[in-house]
Amino acid sequence: MGTTTASSHGATRIFRQGYADPEYVALTSRALALWEALEGAADEELIVRTGAVDHGRAEVVDAIAAALTDAGIPHETLSPDAAAARWPGIAFEGHVLARHGRSHPVRPRHRAVPHPGGTDGARRAALRHGGDGARRPRRRRDRDAVRRVHPPQLVRGGGRGSWAPALVGDLLAGRGAGLPAIRVTQEQPAHFPSRLPDQAWPSFVHWAADDDVYGLLTPGEGVKVGFHGTGPVVDPDHRDFTPVPAEAERLQAYVARYVPGVDATKPTFISCLYDNSPDEDFVIDRRGPVTVATGFSGHGFKFAPLLGDMIADLATGGAAHPRFSLSKPSPSGTP
Ligand SMILES: Cc1cc2nc3c(=O)[nH]c(=O)nc-3n(C[C@H](O)[C@H](O)[C@H](O)COP(=O)(O)OP(=O)(O)OC[C@H]3O[C@@H](n4cnc5c(N)ncnc54)[C@H](O)[C@@H]3O)c2cc1C
Repeated sequence: MGTTTASSHGATRIFRQGYADPEYVALTSRALALWEALEGAADEELIVRTGAVDHGRAEVVDAIAAALTDAGIPHETLSPDAAAARWPGIAFEGHVLARHGRSHPVRPRHRAVPHPGGTDGARRAALRHGGDGARRPRRRRDRDAVRRVHPPQLVRGGGRGSWAPALVGDLLAGRGAGLPAIRVTQEQPAHFPSRLPDQAWPSFVHWAADDDVYGLLTPGEGVKVGFHGTGPVVDPDHRDFTPVPAEAERLQAYVARYVPGVDATKPTFISCLYDNSPDEDFVIDRRGPVTVATGFSGHGFKFAPLLGDMIADLATGGAAHPRFSLSKPSPSGTP
C-alpha cells in the first residue's frame, strides 16, 4: 500500500499555530520545537517559513487571536484591504489575523517523512545519531504489557489513520475499549497555477460563512486550495479517487472569487483521506499490545514528530494524553 492511498501525500502541508483551543496551541509549540530539532539533526531544511493568514468569521479569528496572545505568540490583526495590499493573491473578508517573526507558521515539506523514492529527514537524523535505519522491536517498560512490540507495525499497520477502525476496532472492543466513531472522508483539494512569485504566498485559512477553506503554495505545482472536511464518506480500501463534479465546480467558483492570484480555470485535483473523529480531537491510546493513533481529522501532519514521540511513549508503557485517551467521554456522552 503506497503513500498515495493515504492522508499523507503531496509535497507540502501547513504548519499553523492558529488554533482557538489553547491546548492545541501549546501542542503546536511543542511540535515546532521538534521539527526544528529534526532539521538540525538532519542538517536539512524541512520547514519553510512562509507566514500565515487567517480571515473570515470574526468569532473564530478573534478566538484564535486570544489563544495566541495567551500563549505569547506574536501576531497582528489588520483590515481586509491592508491584507490584500500585502498579499494580492488572496481576497480577504471579515477579520484578518497574520503571524510573523520567529513564530511564523512553517510549511513542512513532505521529505520530512519517509516516502517512496525520496529522502527523509527523520530516518537520516536517526542514522546520524547512531541508528542503522532498520526498524526493530523495542523492549517495554511496564509489566502488564506484552514483552515486545514492533513500532512500525503499531504505527503503520497496527492502527493508524483511516484504516485504524477496521484494523484494531475489534481488538480494542475485546479489551473493553471503544473507538469513537471515525468517519473516513475522501477529500479533493486542487492545485491551481499561480500568477504571482512564490514569495507572494502565505499559507491561509478562510473561516468562511459556509465551509472552511485552506490554501498554500506547493512550489512547482501551484497553490493548493481545499474545503476542510466536506468530502463523501468512503471505505478507505474501496474508493474511486475521483472528484465529485459538483464539489469541483464549487471549489473553482470559490477560488475565482477569493484567490485572484491563481488561474481558477486550471485545477489539478488531488484525492486524499480524512479520518474524522466526532470532535476533531486525535485518538492516541493503547490497550495491552494494541496501540491506536487515528482521528487526525485533517490536521495531524503538523504534529508529526510530537505524535511520533507520544506513540512511542505509549507503546513502551507511557500514559495517554487525557485529551486523546480512549477513556475520554465522547461528545455524545457515550464513553
Ligand atoms: C488533502 C489533505 C490536506 C491536509 N493538509 C494538512 C495540513 O495542511 N496540515 C496538517 O497538519 N495536516 C493536514 N492534513 C492531515 C494529515 O495529512 C493527516 O492528519 C496525516 O497524514 C495522518 O497521518 P496517518 O499516519 O495517521 O495516516 P495516513 O497518512 O493515512 O497513513 C496511513 C498509512 O498506513 C498505510 N496502511 C493502511 N493499512 C495498512 C496495513 N494493513 N499495512 C501497512 N500499511 C497500511 C496506508 O497506506 C497509509 O500510507 C491533510 C490531509 C489531507 C487529506
